[in-house]
Amino acid sequence: MALLDVRLYGDPILRRKAMHVQEVTPELRRLISDMVETMFHQVGIGLAAPQVGIPYRLLVMDDGKGGARALVNPVITQRSGSVVDEEGCLSLPGIYADVERSKSVTIEATDEDEQPINIEATGMQARVIQHEMDHLDGILFIDHLSPVARDRIKQKIQKHGFPKERRSRAFAL
Ligand code: ZN
Repeated sequence: MALLDVRLYGDPILRRKAMHVQEVTPELRRLISDMVETMFHQVGIGLAAPQVGIPYRLLVMDDGKGGARALVNPVITQRSGSVVDEEGCLSLPGIYADVERSKSVTIEATDEDEQPINIEATGMQARVIQHEMDHLDGILFIDHLSPVARDRIKQKIQKHGFPKERRSRAFAL
């Protein structure tokens, strides 16, 4: 296992649309375990492959039971409701903002053994999945903000870099 470098805002890979995974190879399985290790090391609860420089439709997330699960080629098949809550991102360290998301989502994907999985997620889990799936399409959480709020964040990063003060709340995605 190895810790991976998390790509930061400004890296072009974070803006690229990720590719469909054709086959879960041993290399990809190793990547998944490295992504899980990196996610927990960074005190995150979700991590998408483009965030570690790999342009594939793959993400890992905290399963809420002390472990992690991988979603390969995830697709949202149903959404309902909407809810606003604060979000952060491992690729934008120290930046937090309120983001509106669907309250619950149904996801179809496969796991690392290429077995189909179907998840009905609500609450934080639904938020994590939507945030990470955005990464697979080159979308960042700040893209959901108003242009004014987004520009304020961009200017702050350009001028001062990422804030040094990081909150310990473990919800960076
Ligand atoms: Zn993120």
